[in-house]
Amino acid sequence: MSDVLVVADHRRGELRDVSYELLTAGRELADALGGDLHAAVISGDVERFADELNRSGVDHCYALADGEEFDHNVYQAGVERLLAHTGADAVVMPNSVNGLDYAPAVAESHDLPLVTDAIDIAYDDGLVVTREMYGSKVETTVAVEGDRFALTIREGEWPAADGTGDAEVETLEFEPPESGARVKGFEEVGGGDVDISEAEVLVSVGRGIEEEENLELVETLADALGATLSSSRPIVDNGWLPKNRQVGQSGKVVTPEVYIAVGISGAVQHVAGMKGAETIVAINTDPNAPIFDIADYGIVGDLFDVVPELIEEFQ
Ligand code: FAD
Repeated sequence: MSDVLVVADHRRGELRDVSYELLTAGRELADALGGDLHAAVISGDVERFADELNRSGVDHCYALADGEEFDHNVYQAGVERLLAHTGADAVVMPNSVNGLDYAPAVAESHDLPLVTDAIDIAYDDGLVVTREMYGSKVETTVAVEGDRFALTIREGEWPAADGTGDAEVETLEFEPPESGARVKGFEEVGGGDVDISEAEVLVSVGRGIEEEENLELVETLADALGATLSSSRPIVDNGWLPKNRQVGQSGKVVTPEVYIAVGISGAVQHVAGMKGAETIVAINTDPNAPIFDIADYGIVGDLFDVVPELIEEFQ
């Protein structure tokens, strides 16, 4: 019997969706291991976050390091404090920029085997984790020996836990460690404060747009739909949109309700970032473009004809 600890992720004053997905994965593991599920928030507005995190399936909920910014040392020490307090043997963290910062340090200091970027888990006499390799071209399974492990999960792969929980929120005493480096603040990189991973509707543009000045066309479509503009990698590589708009393996993982791919072929590295969208619409001149393999609705046609018609319709 082993307990499981999950560590929530938050950014700019909001819990990120992956926090609730972590609860689902954590509950699955806790049931398999016959233990309790402990959910924790470290840093930021911890009491509000802990209340939001307290969803059904959570047995114990913790808050610590109130008001701190994200900081490697605070998180490493915070998770160590939580592992000592809860007695959990398994810790599940987000495979986010923050999670990947502290997860290896936690695994190392607790001598836990670490498996990153899980897209699925199974438990049968031991944990078996599914991961993708070689730019999502192959799936591999990793068997973990014993019931002690650290795991990071990919965003958008588990359903979010819902339903209000009735765990009591416990605020833990915590002294941030002495450190030579402290995070003093947070500044957005160029591209503004757009977080495409939080958008409900994305209009995503690819190389089919041909020229930078043609971007205005898809921007107008995004505006007509109240959607956010994202793109494939070549658009970012050309410097036409900032990096925070890129969807895919080396960009962001997005799970919007609607994803409209305009002039995007559907390369595996792009699909890795958007296949979790609820409804996928693709506009492409090539009927054999791989994007149509995963699209719910496909329009085989020239985007310069199709998009103006859609704009007219939606406006
Ligand atoms: P293309 O593949 O060139 O496709 C353009 C599409 O537009 C074609 O299907 C074409 O039929 C269609 N088209 C052309 N004209 C029109 C028109 N007038 N109307 C309608 N359709 C038209 N890519 C990402 O997107 N995100 C990533 O994170 C990412 N990471 C990568 C990481 C690595 C390690 C590597 C090696 C590659 C990565 N890539 C990534 C690049 C990826 O392999 C593809 O090259 C890229 O996704 C292709 O972008 P695209 O679909 O816009 O362009």
